[in-house]
Amino acid sequence: MYLKEIKNIFHLELDAIYSPEEVNSFFYMLIEHFLGLERFILALEPNLIITKDEEAPLFEALSRLKLEIPIQHIIGKTHFMDLEFLVDKNVLIPRPETEDLVRWIFDDIKNHQEAITILDIGTGSGCIPIALKKQLPNAKVATLDISDKALKIATQNAKNNSVQIEFIHANILEIDKLHQKFDIIVSNPPYVRELEKKEMHKNVLQHEPELALFVSDEDPLLFYRKIASFAVNNLNDGGALYFEINQYLGKETKQLLDSTNFSDIELRQDLFGNDRMLKG
Ligand code: GLN
Repeated sequence: MYLKEIKNIFHLELDAIYSPEEVNSFFYMLIEHFLGLERFILALEPNLIITKDEEAPLFEALSRLKLEIPIQHIIGKTHFMDLEFLVDKNVLIPRPETEDLVRWIFDDIKNHQEAITILDIGTGSGCIPIALKKQLPNAKVATLDISDKALKIATQNAKNNSVQIEFIHANILEIDKLHQKFDIIVSNPPYVRELEKKEMHKNVLQHEPELALFVSDEDPLLFYRKIASFAVNNLNDGGALYFEINQYLGKETKQLLDSTNFSDIELRQDLFGNDRMLKG
């Protein structure tokens, strides 16, 4: 079959669920993953024919996309800060908003001479600490997560990206102190309220870990309160705390840092213009 015909079938079957741009991007991710074909292949060879054997994984992926299984789960990986990360149902799929948070931290500390210590809380795939360590090879980076399944994936991701990180299996709601203090603490904790579920796509709701995403409507800042007070005990003098936050709770989360004795608090927007990151 012509490759371009398959692309048309993808659009016919998926345009009702996803935007045409998303379908395009899924198609190219799949032909790269399964057939090793580059993105611009159809521009170079519009009449490229592929064999029945080559077609099979593409059509199988198509039927899984129709069930709204995330493309990252179908190919088993994603990219974050130009690095490759394995992902499955046990970890949140890294988001581009979180890349902005990593860039913010990197910009703040890239000129520091001394080796900096960093702790990431609730790591999931390990995207934040691994991306930071990759850019700051002298930093000493640790990370913790409550989920041992997530820690397994994060450990594998650190290995695949050739970085050394300390992994700690712990529930942040139950610990007050670690064996050392840090210059930077960063976290992207669960922050989506029940009332925001209706805004979410089925591929997130049904296939990504609830543990990483949701908080109760009654106490949506639970993790922020706990992590802010943990940071007071575990940051070195002059250290900084960075959060990814719920876009609708920018004012409240900022207030919380204020009342936990943080100074120089700064709220920033993500690439979509939503309140998304906080530093104190
Ligand atoms: N930004 C993620 C989403 O909207 C949520 C991440 C989180 O809860 N920490 O799916």
